[in-house]
Amino acid sequence: MATITGEILVGGEAASGGLPGIRATNPKTGAPLEPAFSFADEADVDRAARLAWSAFDAFRESDLETRAHFLEGVAAAIDDLGDALIERAEAETGLSRRRLGIERDRTTNQLRLFAKVVRAGEWLDLRIDPPLPDRTPFPRPDIRLRQIGVGPVAVFGASNFPLAFSVAGGDTAAAFAAGCPVIVKGHPAHPGTGELVGRAIQRAVADAGLPAGIFALLNGAVETGTALVRHPMIKSVGFTGSRGAGLALMSVAAARPEPIPVHAEMSSINPVFILPAALAERTEAIARSFVDSLALDSGQYCTNPGLVYAVEGPELEAFLSHVEAALALKHAEAMLTPGIHAAFDKGVDALASHPDVQVLARGRDGTDANATAPAVFLTDATRFEADEALGHEVFGASSMIVRCETIEAMLEAAERMEGQLTATLQLDADDIDAARRLLPILERRVGRILANGWPTGVEVSHAMVHGGPYPATADSRFTSVGTLSIRRFLRPISYQNLPAELLPAPLRDETLPALIDGVRRG
Ligand code: NAP
Repeated sequence: MATITGEILVGGEAASGGLPGIRATNPKTGAPLEPAFSFADEADVDRAARLAWSAFDAFRESDLETRAHFLEGVAAAIDDLGDALIERAEAETGLSRRRLGIERDRTTNQLRLFAKVVRAGEWLDLRIDPPLPDRTPFPRPDIRLRQIGVGPVAVFGASNFPLAFSVAGGDTAAAFAAGCPVIVKGHPAHPGTGELVGRAIQRAVADAGLPAGIFALLNGAVETGTALVRHPMIKSVGFTGSRGAGLALMSVAAARPEPIPVHAEMSSINPVFILPAALAERTEAIARSFVDSLALDSGQYCTNPGLVYAVEGPELEAFLSHVEAALALKHAEAMLTPGIHAAFDKGVDALASHPDVQVLARGRDGTDANATAPAVFLTDATRFEADEALGHEVFGASSMIVRCETIEAMLEAAERMEGQLTATLQLDADDIDAARRLLPILERRVGRILANGWPTGVEVSHAMVHGGPYPATADSRFTSVGTLSIRRFLRPISYQNLPAELLPAPLRDETLPALIDGVRRG
């Protein structure tokens, strides 16, 4: 039977945190949910961080099979929660059961995929440069490299993915795979969902025989998160949320006596470039699919298509009419939290009253609490460039269509874009030349370029990049989705002329993939 007690989870145990906390709220009705959740105080943060630090050496040296089995155990323990997990997540977020079921499968598949990654051993990046004792003028020493976990990681879950980007989400899976203990700062929008998943992780830790200190879940306020990032035994941070909160955590991390990286995924408006032939050929289909992508789950996706560029002309006018018609069929649904709803209203009101912006279309009002109709706005490239605020993210179902006089104007607009997670091309065969000119610009600005699709829906796979230049993320060299995300929590270490018996096990294991003097083995 799944239990939710409102306690914090530290070192395999559940206990009341040192501070009074919150109750979750059903965003559809505004009704508070049981039980009350206590918040971690500084002493709780310190205890969790010390336990994580003391568990780190044993965890990072756990053999690959144990660690892979553990990740699969977390997935199985989440599956075992059954409907109780989906029901609680539905009550806390207002997201549909269907969407939450898909998200749960994504979460457990992600954990199982990381188990495969751990077993395969590529992530260890083993390199062996054999000694060259006779080399002149100097002999070359024996040099061997592997990757090790950076240390305990603080994870800040996201409100919009209560499972896949939260307690056992991508950051946690990648950090565990790298051999790093994880302390999650629970998101206050779904504390009960978080506790159910946290207890599932605790069970998997115990079943795998790993040290209990490798996982903790602390609910708390801003001070809790700040104390966690400041703690000297925390060595890296994974964050998904607003630009303001991401930047605040980055400055806390940078001001530490030992600064640490913050892998923050923040804001992106995911421009879509509808090229002329595609606009002419597929006017209505593109309009409909754009509106579907925009309005999905109240637009609460970091990959929401918040900006559309197209060249003016009769085809664009027809497209705008189809967008209007398609949006009129969408109605407002509850957003995740009153805060996110208020921020959406504020952003939409600012755009609606902006002198250089036209309200193209609104969806229908809904009956839920915390619900505002989706919105599409219209402006032109000159006006869009004149006010930087028009390019800021309005989290939710809001998008700006920008008319460009020519393809050249579209290219110039692309040059001025902030860093983004994605850019989308709607293109047909006759658009290839224009697309070829756009590509190098987009490559400098975004983490993922896609054609004839929509950016919502991020595959968890080996080749996925969910990242991008600032402000999309804090560091464009990394991804927060896909197996490459393990690299955020690893660092390389070299061993020079160490006696064989002192070398770590992976560097003595001849079955693992490695580069031997630069040539691939296995
Ligand atoms: P948020 O305000 O950025 O909060 C995310 C997490 O960071 C929460 O645990 C929050 O804790 C903590 N936090 C916030 N400010 C902090 C600070 N100054 N220092 C330390 N910790 C801090 O995100 P949200 O509540 O999920 O949504 C608010 C806005 O974030 C949205 O309107 C949207 O603009 C953006 N958002 C973006 C994405 C994305 O995928 N990029 C996803 C979700 C939301 P407390 O709440 O306890 O303070």
